[in-house]
Amino acid sequence: MEQTLVILKPSCVERALIGEVINRIQKRGIIISAMKMMMLNMDILKEHYAHLVDKPFFPGLCESMMASPVVCMVLKGVDVVSVFRTMVGATNGRKAAPGTLRGDFCMSGQANIIHASDSPENALIEIARFFKPEEVFDYTPSSLSFLYADDEITNQ
Ligand code: UDP
Ligand code: MG
Repeated sequence: MEQTLVILKPSCVERALIGEVINRIQKRGIIISAMKMMMLNMDILKEHYAHLVDKPFFPGLCESMMASPVVCMVLKGVDVVSVFRTMVGATNGRKAAPGTLRGDFCMSGQANIIHASDSPENALIEIARFFKPEEVFDYTPSSLSFLYADDEITNQ
């Protein structure tokens, strides 16, 4: 089954929205395979946001990502990368659709409460960046047969 890397940013942690986000993840039927709180630093942010290092907002972005601890998670599900990106919504919270996490919980293009991997390939790279293999738990929840039809999870 596909995995994705999620970071609840300082704008989520400081605004006490961790529970709201986890509630939506679990209500959707997405499996949480790993979760931990950590403090980010410039080394990991330069890697994680390598596509943005030359942007004028990069220093401010890094400062905002180090303003408090973050919560990192690995989520699991069929097509979970695209399913969860749709739940997250557009990068700029002011443009994100109502019903999405950003569209319901933020007003900023930077303090937009959450990161989610944008492709299955990047998800694997990002999971390895933030988690040791033994921190990711590949258990099967007993509710699995009520989350999917059998033919949706074979070969996943
Ligand atoms: N960001 C920003 N200003 C911008 C674009 C992005 O501060 O004009 C920040 C924002 O926090 C965003 C992060 O950089 O979530 C990563 O940008 P990306 O384009 O990868 O957006 P995402 O994948 O998070 O939607
Ligand atoms: Mg991105």
